[in-house]
Amino acid sequence: MNLNVLVLPGDGIGTEVTREAVRVLERVAAKWKHTLQLREALLGGIAIHRTGGPFPDDTRALALEADAVLMGAVGLPEFDNWPPEKRPERGLLGIRKAMGVFANLRPVRSYKALLDSSPLKNELIDGVDLIIVRELNGGIYYGTPRGIFEDGPEPRGVNTMVYTASEIERVTRMAFELARNRRKKVTSVDKSNVLETSQLWRRVATEVGKQYPDVALDHLLVDNCAMQLVLNPKRFDVLVMENMFGDILSDEGAVLAGSIGMLPSASIGAKKPSGAWTGLYEPVHGSAPDIAGQNKANPFGAIGSVAAMLEYSFGLKEEAEAVNRAMESVLNSGRVTADLRPAGTPATTQQAGEAVCQAI
Ligand code: NAD
Repeated sequence: MNLNVLVLPGDGIGTEVTREAVRVLERVAAKWKHTLQLREALLGGIAIHRTGGPFPDDTRALALEADAVLMGAVGLPEFDNWPPEKRPERGLLGIRKAMGVFANLRPVRSYKALLDSSPLKNELIDGVDLIIVRELNGGIYYGTPRGIFEDGPEPRGVNTMVYTASEIERVTRMAFELARNRRKKVTSVDKSNVLETSQLWRRVATEVGKQYPDVALDHLLVDNCAMQLVLNPKRFDVLVMENMFGDILSDEGAVLAGSIGMLPSASIGAKKPSGAWTGLYEPVHGSAPDIAGQNKANPFGAIGSVAAMLEYSFGLKEEAEAVNRAMESVLNSGRVTADLRPAGTPATTQQAGEAVCQAI
Protein backbone atom coordinates (compact mmCIF):
# COMPACT_ATOMS: atom_id res chain seq x y z
CA MET A 1 0.00 0.00 0.00
CA ASN A 2 1.13 3.54 -0.65
CA LEU A 3 1.12 5.60 2.55
CA ASN A 4 1.28 9.29 1.72
CA VAL A 5 1.77 11.04 5.07
CA LEU A 6 2.40 14.67 5.94
CA VAL A 7 4.41 15.19 9.14
CA LEU A 8 4.01 18.39 11.18
CA PRO A 9 6.40 18.17 14.14
CA GLY A 10 5.46 21.64 15.46
CA ASP A 11 7.11 23.01 18.61
CA GLY A 12 8.80 21.87 21.81
CA ILE A 13 8.51 18.16 22.53
CA GLY A 14 6.31 17.88 19.43
CA THR A 15 9.49 17.53 17.36
CA GLU A 16 10.97 14.94 19.73
CA VAL A 17 7.97 12.61 19.98
CA THR A 18 7.15 12.92 16.27
CA ARG A 19 10.68 11.76 15.37
CA GLU A 20 10.03 8.50 17.25
CA ALA A 21 6.53 8.11 15.82
CA VAL A 22 7.95 8.45 12.29
CA ARG A 23 10.62 5.89 13.13
CA VAL A 24 7.84 3.46 14.10
CA LEU A 25 5.92 4.22 10.91
CA GLU A 26 9.07 3.51 8.88
CA ARG A 27 9.57 0.23 10.73
CA VAL A 28 5.98 -0.83 9.97
CA ALA A 29 6.32 0.16 6.31
CA ALA A 30 9.54 -1.84 5.99
CA LYS A 31 8.18 -4.92 7.73
CA TRP A 32 4.87 -5.08 5.83
CA LYS A 33 6.37 -3.76 2.57
CA HIS A 34 4.29 -0.61 2.26
CA THR A 35 5.64 2.37 0.33
CA LEU A 36 5.95 5.33 2.64
CA GLN A 37 5.90 8.82 1.16
CA LEU A 38 6.75 11.28 3.91
CA ARG A 39 6.64 15.04 3.59
CA GLU A 40 7.28 17.56 6.34
CA ALA A 41 5.81 21.05 6.79
CA LEU A 42 5.57 23.89 9.29
CA LEU A 43 2.84 24.51 11.85
CA GLY A 44 2.64 26.56 15.05
CA GLY A 45 5.43 28.65 16.58
CA ILE A 46 8.11 27.47 14.17
CA ALA A 47 5.82 28.47 11.27
CA ILE A 48 5.43 31.96 12.78
CA HIS A 49 9.21 32.27 13.00
CA ARG A 50 9.81 31.11 9.42
CA THR A 51 6.78 32.48 7.56
CA GLY A 52 5.05 35.04 9.81
CA GLY A 53 1.90 32.95 10.46
CA PRO A 54 1.02 29.73 12.36
CA PHE A 55 -0.64 27.93 9.41
CA PRO A 56 1.15 28.69 6.12
CA ASP A 57 -0.60 28.17 2.77
CA ASP A 58 2.00 25.52 1.81
CA THR A 59 1.07 23.49 4.88
CA ARG A 60 -2.61 23.77 4.05
CA ALA A 61 -2.03 22.55 0.46
CA LEU A 62 0.16 19.62 1.54
CA ALA A 63 -2.33 18.59 4.26
CA LEU A 64 -5.17 18.44 1.74
CA GLU A 65 -3.04 16.31 -0.63
CA ALA A 66 -1.89 13.81 2.00
CA ASP A 67 -3.72 10.58 2.90
CA ALA A 68 -3.11 11.32 6.57
CA VAL A 69 -1.38 13.94 8.71
CA LEU A 70 0.80 13.19 11.73
CA MET A 71 1.22 16.14 14.08
CA GLY A 72 3.37 16.72 17.16
CA ALA A 73 2.28 19.70 19.28
CA VAL A 74 2.29 23.47 18.96
CA GLY A 75 2.91 26.32 21.37
CA LEU A 76 5.90 28.34 22.56
CA PRO A 77 6.01 30.41 25.78
CA GLU A 78 7.33 33.47 23.89
CA PHE A 79 3.90 33.78 22.21
CA ASP A 80 1.87 33.41 25.42
CA ASN A 81 0.87 37.08 25.53
CA TRP A 82 0.11 37.41 21.81
CA PRO A 83 -3.51 37.86 20.72
CA PRO A 84 -5.26 34.48 20.11
CA GLU A 85 -5.48 34.91 16.31
CA LYS A 86 -1.68 35.22 16.02
CA ARG A 87 -0.64 32.49 18.45
CA PRO A 88 0.77 29.07 17.42
CA GLU A 89 -2.37 27.32 18.71
CA ARG A 90 -4.39 29.08 16.00
CA GLY A 91 -2.50 26.87 13.52
CA LEU A 92 -4.06 23.87 15.19
CA LEU A 93 -7.59 25.22 14.88
CA GLY A 94 -6.79 26.21 11.28
CA ILE A 95 -5.62 22.80 10.14
CA ARG A 96 -8.53 21.00 11.84
CA LYS A 97 -10.94 23.30 10.07
CA ALA A 98 -9.15 23.08 6.69
CA MET A 99 -9.16 19.28 6.78
CA GLY A 100 -12.81 19.20 7.82
CA VAL A 101 -12.14 16.83 10.69
CA PHE A 102 -15.08 17.02 13.05
CA ALA A 103 -14.57 14.23 15.57
CA ASN A 104 -11.60 13.83 17.87
CA LEU A 105 -11.25 10.30 19.18
CA ARG A 106 -9.33 9.96 22.40
CA PRO A 107 -8.96 6.37 23.54
CA VAL A 108 -8.07 5.95 27.22
CA ARG A 109 -7.07 2.55 28.52
CA SER A 110 -5.22 1.38 31.56
CA TYR A 111 -2.09 -0.72 31.15
CA LYS A 112 -1.31 -3.26 33.88
CA ALA A 113 2.30 -2.08 33.96
CA LEU A 114 1.20 1.50 34.64
CA LEU A 115 -1.43 0.99 37.34
CA ASP A 116 0.93 2.39 39.97
CA SER A 117 1.68 5.48 37.84
CA SER A 118 -1.88 6.72 38.24
CA PRO A 119 -2.77 8.64 41.39
CA LEU A 120 -6.08 6.73 41.47
CA LYS A 121 -6.43 3.41 43.32
CA ASN A 122 -5.47 0.38 41.21
CA GLU A 123 -8.86 -1.29 41.57
CA LEU A 124 -10.58 1.80 40.17
CA ILE A 125 -8.53 1.93 36.97
CA ASP A 126 -7.60 -1.70 36.29
CA GLY A 127 -9.63 -2.59 33.18
CA VAL A 128 -10.54 0.94 32.07
CA ASP A 129 -11.09 1.00 28.31
CA LEU A 130 -13.03 3.99 27.02
CA ILE A 131 -13.06 6.42 24.11
CA ILE A 132 -13.88 10.08 24.42
CA VAL A 133 -15.35 11.41 21.16
CA ARG A 134 -14.97 15.17 21.18
CA GLU A 135 -16.74 17.38 18.64
CA LEU A 136 -13.95 19.36 17.06
CA ASN A 137 -15.24 21.80 14.53
CA GLY A 138 -17.83 23.84 16.36
CA GLY A 139 -18.89 25.12 19.75
CA ILE A 140 -17.40 27.93 21.76
CA TYR A 141 -13.92 27.71 20.21
CA TYR A 142 -15.28 28.81 16.83
CA GLY A 143 -18.57 30.63 17.48
CA THR A 144 -18.97 34.33 16.77
CA PRO A 145 -19.22 37.03 18.00
CA ARG A 146 -16.00 36.67 19.93
CA GLY A 147 -13.42 39.10 21.22
CA ILE A 148 -12.58 41.56 23.94
CA PHE A 149 -14.72 44.63 23.40
CA GLU A 150 -13.45 47.94 24.80
CA ASP A 151 -16.33 50.14 23.62
CA GLY A 152 -18.35 50.20 26.86
CA PRO A 153 -17.74 51.47 30.39
CA GLU A 154 -15.39 48.51 30.96
CA PRO A 155 -13.80 45.80 28.76
CA ARG A 156 -16.11 42.88 27.91
CA GLY A 157 -14.91 39.39 26.90
CA VAL A 158 -17.30 37.53 24.60
CA ASN A 159 -17.39 33.97 23.25
CA THR A 160 -20.32 32.20 21.64
CA MET A 161 -21.30 28.56 21.93
CA VAL A 162 -23.26 27.50 18.88
CA TYR A 163 -24.21 24.10 17.40
CA THR A 164 -26.43 23.12 14.51
CA ALA A 165 -28.42 19.89 14.58
CA SER A 166 -26.38 18.44 11.70
CA GLU A 167 -23.09 19.11 13.50
CA ILE A 168 -24.40 17.21 16.51
CA GLU A 169 -25.84 14.44 14.38
CA ARG A 170 -22.65 13.53 12.51
CA VAL A 171 -20.49 13.32 15.64
CA THR A 172 -23.03 11.40 17.74
CA ARG A 173 -23.52 9.01 14.82
CA MET A 174 -19.77 8.35 14.77
CA ALA A 175 -19.92 7.55 18.51
CA PHE A 176 -22.67 4.98 17.91
CA GLU A 177 -20.72 3.43 15.02
CA LEU A 178 -17.66 3.07 17.26
CA ALA A 179 -19.72 1.62 20.11
CA ARG A 180 -21.12 -1.05 17.78
CA ASN A 181 -17.62 -2.52 17.46
CA ARG A 182 -17.00 -2.26 21.20
CA ARG A 183 -19.16 -2.80 24.31
CA LYS A 184 -22.22 -1.14 22.76
CA LYS A 185 -22.69 1.73 25.15
CA VAL A 186 -22.74 5.48 24.43
CA THR A 187 -22.77 8.16 27.11
CA SER A 188 -23.74 11.55 25.74
CA VAL A 189 -22.40 14.38 27.90
CA ASP A 190 -24.00 17.82 28.08
CA LYS A 191 -25.08 20.66 30.34
CA SER A 192 -28.73 20.60 29.35
CA ASN A 193 -29.88 21.91 32.73
CA VAL A 194 -28.34 25.29 31.82
CA LEU A 195 -27.38 25.55 28.13
CA GLU A 196 -29.74 25.59 25.12
CA THR A 197 -26.98 24.16 22.89
CA SER A 198 -26.94 21.19 25.26
CA GLN A 199 -30.72 20.81 25.12
CA LEU A 200 -30.47 20.51 21.35
CA TRP A 201 -27.50 18.15 21.77
CA ARG A 202 -29.52 15.84 24.00
CA ARG A 203 -32.50 15.90 21.65
CA VAL A 204 -30.41 15.03 18.56
CA ALA A 205 -28.36 12.37 20.40
CA THR A 206 -31.61 10.71 21.49
CA GLU A 207 -32.94 10.73 17.90
CA VAL A 208 -29.71 9.25 16.50
CA GLY A 209 -29.75 6.66 19.28
CA LYS A 210 -33.12 5.36 18.07
CA GLN A 211 -31.38 4.24 14.87
CA TYR A 212 -28.97 2.10 16.92
CA PRO A 213 -31.26 -0.12 19.02
CA ASP A 214 -28.34 -2.48 19.71
CA VAL A 215 -26.41 0.30 21.49
CA ALA A 216 -27.42 1.55 24.95
CA LEU A 217 -27.51 5.34 25.35
CA ASP A 218 -27.37 7.31 28.56
CA HIS A 219 -27.03 11.05 29.19
CA LEU A 220 -24.81 12.63 31.81
CA LEU A 221 -24.34 16.25 32.85
CA VAL A 222 -20.75 17.32 32.30
CA ASP A 223 -20.09 18.15 35.96
CA ASN A 224 -21.32 14.72 37.05
CA CYS A 225 -19.30 13.12 34.24
CA ALA A 226 -16.13 14.80 35.54
CA MET A 227 -16.84 13.15 38.89
CA GLN A 228 -17.80 9.73 37.50
CA LEU A 229 -14.61 9.58 35.43
CA VAL A 230 -12.57 9.36 38.61
CA LEU A 231 -15.14 7.55 40.81
CA ASN A 232 -16.12 4.78 38.41
CA PRO A 233 -14.34 5.05 35.03
CA LYS A 234 -15.00 1.41 34.15
CA ARG A 235 -18.71 2.18 33.64
CA PHE A 236 -17.84 4.03 30.39
CA ASP A 237 -17.42 2.68 26.87
CA VAL A 238 -17.87 5.53 24.34
CA LEU A 239 -18.46 9.10 25.57
CA VAL A 240 -19.49 11.83 23.14
CA MET A 241 -19.52 15.55 23.88
CA GLU A 242 -19.09 19.04 22.51
CA ASN A 243 -15.71 20.65 21.88
CA MET A 244 -14.82 22.38 25.16
CA PHE A 245 -16.26 19.67 27.42
CA GLY A 246 -14.17 17.13 25.49
CA ASP A 247 -11.06 19.27 25.72
CA ILE A 248 -11.35 19.36 29.50
CA LEU A 249 -12.54 15.82 30.25
CA SER A 250 -9.96 14.17 28.00
CA ASP A 251 -7.18 15.67 30.13
CA GLU A 252 -8.92 14.13 33.13
CA GLY A 253 -8.75 10.87 31.20
CA ALA A 254 -4.96 11.29 31.17
CA VAL A 255 -4.93 10.63 34.90
CA LEU A 256 -6.48 7.22 34.26
CA ALA A 257 -3.79 6.32 31.72
CA GLY A 258 -0.93 7.19 34.07
CA SER A 259 0.46 10.16 32.14
CA ILE A 260 -0.76 12.63 29.58
CA GLY A 261 2.20 11.46 27.49
CA MET A 262 0.45 8.10 26.95
CA LEU A 263 -2.62 9.45 25.18
CA PRO A 264 -3.02 9.29 21.39
CA SER A 265 -5.75 11.00 19.43
CA ALA A 266 -7.30 10.74 16.01
CA SER A 267 -9.26 13.55 14.39
CA ILE A 268 -11.52 12.13 11.73
CA GLY A 269 -13.60 13.74 9.03
CA ALA A 270 -15.53 12.58 6.00
CA LYS A 271 -14.59 9.52 3.97
CA LYS A 272 -12.42 10.20 0.90
CA PRO A 273 -13.33 8.71 -2.51
CA SER A 274 -10.71 6.02 -1.77
CA GLY A 275 -12.80 4.92 1.24
CA ALA A 276 -10.18 6.06 3.78
CA TRP A 277 -11.14 8.49 6.53
CA THR A 278 -9.59 11.94 6.37
CA GLY A 279 -7.42 11.90 9.44
CA LEU A 280 -5.20 14.13 11.57
CA TYR A 281 -3.30 12.17 14.21
CA GLU A 282 -1.61 13.72 17.23
CA PRO A 283 -0.81 13.03 20.85
CA VAL A 284 -3.17 14.72 23.30
CA HIS A 285 -0.39 16.58 25.12
CA GLY A 286 1.01 20.00 24.25
CA SER A 287 4.54 21.20 23.54
CA ALA A 288 5.61 20.89 27.22
CA PRO A 289 8.12 23.77 27.34
CA ASP A 290 9.22 22.61 30.82
CA ILE A 291 10.85 19.46 29.42
CA ALA A 292 11.43 20.43 25.75
CA GLY A 293 14.88 19.69 24.32
CA GLN A 294 15.78 17.26 27.11
CA ASN A 295 15.04 13.97 25.32
CA LYS A 296 12.79 12.86 28.16
CA ALA A 297 9.26 13.29 26.75
CA ASN A 298 7.13 10.15 26.56
CA PRO A 299 6.65 9.30 22.84
CA PHE A 300 3.85 6.74 23.39
CA GLY A 301 1.01 9.20 22.76
CA ALA A 302 2.56 10.01 19.38
CA ILE A 303 3.31 6.35 18.62
CA GLY A 304 -0.25 5.38 19.60
CA SER A 305 -1.41 8.04 17.15
CA VAL A 306 0.49 6.19 14.40
CA ALA A 307 -1.39 3.02 15.36
CA ALA A 308 -4.67 4.95 15.06
CA MET A 309 -3.58 6.28 11.64
CA LEU A 310 -2.81 2.79 10.39
CA GLU A 311 -6.24 1.61 11.52
CA TYR A 312 -8.55 4.48 10.56
CA SER A 313 -6.90 6.09 7.52
CA PHE A 314 -5.33 3.00 5.95
CA GLY A 315 -7.46 0.14 7.28
CA LEU A 316 -4.26 -1.69 8.35
CA LYS A 317 -5.58 -3.36 11.52
CA GLU A 318 -2.84 -5.99 11.79
CA GLU A 319 -0.11 -3.33 11.64
CA ALA A 320 -1.99 -1.13 14.13
CA GLU A 321 -2.32 -4.01 16.57
CA ALA A 322 1.38 -4.82 16.17
CA VAL A 323 2.27 -1.25 17.20
CA ASN A 324 -0.08 -1.39 20.22
CA ARG A 325 1.31 -4.76 21.30
CA ALA A 326 4.88 -3.50 20.92
CA MET A 327 4.11 -0.53 23.18
CA GLU A 328 2.55 -2.84 25.76
CA SER A 329 5.62 -5.08 25.77
CA VAL A 330 7.93 -2.09 26.24
CA LEU A 331 5.73 -0.91 29.12
CA ASN A 332 5.96 -4.36 30.70
CA SER A 333 9.75 -4.33 30.29
CA GLY A 334 9.96 -1.11 32.32
CA ARG A 335 12.07 0.72 29.70
CA VAL A 336 9.87 3.79 29.96
CA THR A 337 10.32 7.55 30.27
CA ALA A 338 10.53 9.49 33.54
CA ASP A 339 6.86 10.59 33.60
CA LEU A 340 5.89 6.93 34.17
CA ARG A 341 8.20 6.74 37.20
CA PRO A 342 10.07 3.53 36.31
CA ALA A 343 11.95 1.70 39.06
CA GLY A 344 15.35 2.02 37.34
CA THR A 345 16.94 4.74 35.21
CA PRO A 346 14.26 6.25 32.95
CA ALA A 347 14.53 5.69 29.21
CA THR A 348 15.06 8.69 26.95
CA THR A 349 12.47 9.59 24.31
CA GLN A 350 14.73 8.05 21.69
CA GLN A 351 15.35 4.84 23.65
CA ALA A 352 11.62 4.34 24.22
CA GLY A 353 10.98 4.81 20.47
CA GLU A 354 13.78 2.40 19.52
CA ALA A 355 12.44 -0.20 21.96
CA VAL A 356 9.02 -0.07 20.28
CA CYS A 357 10.64 -0.50 16.84
CA GLN A 358 12.59 -3.51 18.08
CA ALA A 359 9.46 -5.04 19.62
CA ILE A 360 7.65 -4.70 16.27
P1 NAD B 1 1.36 20.22 28.06
O1 NAD B 1 0.56 19.04 27.67
O2 NAD B 1 2.35 20.69 27.08
O3 NAD B 1 2.13 19.91 29.44
C1 NAD B 1 1.44 19.65 30.67
C2 NAD B 1 2.37 18.88 31.61
O4 NAD B 1 2.48 17.52 31.16
C3 NAD B 1 3.79 19.42 31.65
O5 NAD B 1 4.30 19.30 32.97
C4 NAD B 1 4.56 18.51 30.72
O6 NAD B 1 5.94 18.37 31.04
C5 NAD B 1 3.82 17.18 30.88
N1 NAD B 1 3.86 16.42 29.61
C6 NAD B 1 3.14 16.70 28.49
N2 NAD B 1 3.43 15.82 27.53
C7 NAD B 1 4.35 14.97 28.05
C8 NAD B 1 5.06 13.85 27.52
N3 NAD B 1 4.88 13.43 26.26
N4 NAD B 1 5.94 13.23 28.31
C9 NAD B 1 6.15 13.64 29.58
N5 NAD B 1 5.51 14.69 30.14
C10 NAD B 1 4.62 15.35 29.37
O7 NAD B 1 0.32 21.39 28.42
P2 NAD B 1 0.61 22.91 28.84
O8 NAD B 1 1.84 23.01 29.67
O9 NAD B 1 -0.67 23.38 29.36
O10 NAD B 1 0.85 23.67 27.46
C11 NAD B 1 2.14 23.93 26.91
C12 NAD B 1 1.98 24.53 25.51
O11 NAD B 1 1.39 23.55 24.65
C13 NAD B 1 1.03 25.74 25.48
O12 NAD B 1 1.57 26.64 24.55
C14 NAD B 1 -0.28 25.15 25.01
O13 NAD B 1 -1.09 26.10 24.36
C15 NAD B 1 0.21 24.11 24.03
N6 NAD B 1 -0.73 23.00 23.82
C16 NAD B 1 -0.75 22.47 22.58
C17 NAD B 1 -1.54 21.36 22.32
C18 NAD B 1 -1.49 20.77 20.94
O14 NAD B 1 -0.62 21.11 20.16
N7 NAD B 1 -2.38 19.85 20.62
C19 NAD B 1 -2.30 20.78 23.34
C20 NAD B 1 -2.24 21.33 24.62
C21 NAD B 1 -1.44 22.44 24.85
